Amino acid sequence: MSAATTYDVAVVGAGVVGAAIARELSGHDLTVALVEAREDVGDGTSKANTAILHTGFDATPGTLESRLVRDGFHLLSRYAERTGIPVERTGALLVAWTTEELAALPELRAKAIRNGYRECVIVDTAEVYRQVPALGPGALGGLTVPDESITCTWTATLALATDAVRRGAALLTRHSVGSARVGEHATVLATTGGEVRARWVVNAAGLAGAELDRMFGYGRFTVTPRRGELLVFDKLARPLAPRIVLPVPSSRGKGVLISPTIYGNVMLGPTSEDLTGGPDTATSERGVEFLLGKGRALMPTLLDEEVTASYAGVRAAIDRPDYLVEADPARRYVLVGGIRSTGLTASMAIGEHVRDLLAGAGLPLRPRRGLPPPPAMPNLGEASTRPYQDADRIDADPAYGRLVCFCERVTEGEIRDAYAATIPPATLGGLRRRTRAMNGRCQGFYCAARVAELAGGHR
Ligand SMILES: Cc1cc2nc3c(=O)[nH]c(=O)nc-3n(C[C@H](O)[C@H](O)[C@H](O)COP(=O)(O)OP(=O)(O)OC[C@H]3O[C@@H](n4cnc5c(N)ncnc54)[C@H](O)[C@@H]3O)c2cc1C
Repeated sequence: MSAATTYDVAVVGAGVVGAAIARELSGHDLTVALVEAREDVGDGTSKANTAILHTGFDATPGTLESRLVRDGFHLLSRYAERTGIPVERTGALLVAWTTEELAALPELRAKAIRNGYRECVIVDTAEVYRQVPALGPGALGGLTVPDESITCTWTATLALATDAVRRGAALLTRHSVGSARVGEHATVLATTGGEVRARWVVNAAGLAGAELDRMFGYGRFTVTPRRGELLVFDKLARPLAPRIVLPVPSSRGKGVLISPTIYGNVMLGPTSEDLTGGPDTATSERGVEFLLGKGRALMPTLLDEEVTASYAGVRAAIDRPDYLVEADPARRYVLVGGIRSTGLTASMAIGEHVRDLLAGAGLPLRPRRGLPPPPAMPNLGEASTRPYQDADRIDADPAYGRLVCFCERVTEGEIRDAYAATIPPATLGGLRRRTRAMNGRCQGFYCAARVAELAGGHR
């Protein structure tokens, strides 16, 4: 479309939330732009989280977050089956380590039921250690959450954005919105990539949500970046964590957990630290020490394994205890704010909620006919066959037999496919999120040069 195009809707922010909104809206007879400041989709908070598909058992009942996490869990689970986003239903075990925590379990179970989740069971100490034998001494009991699952945040975001683009949405990367001028018929967004005009604007800018909100004349909330640091342990640790091990949640959030990852590692974290100087995704010595201390108490043998990576993500915590999603029909503007620690799970339900808000505010919505099927995503998970393991595929195309990244077993064929995809990577970081290349224990030490060479050949 030309610069003079007026889109029906511009969604600002191509994280998992904005991608899900753009996908939902582009399933209707609308012109949609997904406007992103960075070079790639999913390069903000959505690239660095614990990637748990939450049932919503521990949400605050009656909140918008509770409803959207519960619905989003089912929507994303079904979508994952259709697109190949890897999901493993490992289940979770919430462990009580003190008599106070033990006493809190019945209320947590009752809360889960109020949130529409009825599968939690309170278990005794023997069952806790049967389920996770490697736990440290001192567990007094637990609560099982059989449907909590692990997934891949990178694939989920990319699948939703790819689907949106195939349904006709325009993906405008390198378009950082600096100001908004609301006119009678359209809003003009001044961006680093030029002006974008749209009748409606949806603010899904995550950590920058309040800033964008101010461009529409509001001052209704502030975002406090809340950093979460995580440690990734070597694949040899995976048998120690057959399921997600959760602490009893506190007012600070879900607390430090131990989780298997779909890539075959074990993750310990996240920390929860409010930042005063803006979003900072650097890891800190203090954070690492804190996590190692936690790990030592929760699962001492985990610390015998090697830490292969550490990273940090930043939650968009706001000064209210719920998501803040509101439509302003006069300015033809929807705020999607405060999507803190559950946004991956809730993303598709947020998409449907925004669709309903827009319809309620007067945007005509007619389902589009002849939608393309959802994209088939490359499998990054260890629970299903990966290309290097697939003899038939290698026979048909030897590029899947040529390993490039030996730690993560990534082949030339997968790198080639990433560049041929609807949304190709713009950077080597983007390639890593699409293939796992350079994501293993050597962190690219051995393969980065060859990966970069292949990437250069495909660009
Ligand atoms: C440590 C940690 C652990 C988590 N664990 C889980 C979990 O296990 N399960 C779960 O469901 N959720 C989890 N979350 C939460 C989840 O990651 C977030 O809720 C989700 O990623 C938020 O997505 P988003 O699209 O709102 O934000 P983002 O991914 O940050 O996307 C916002 C986008 O807006 C763009 N943008 C900002 N300003 C502008 C502008 N002016 N112009 C154009 N573009 C702009 C940014 O570049 C960014 O790409 C976790 C979060 C953290 C930090």
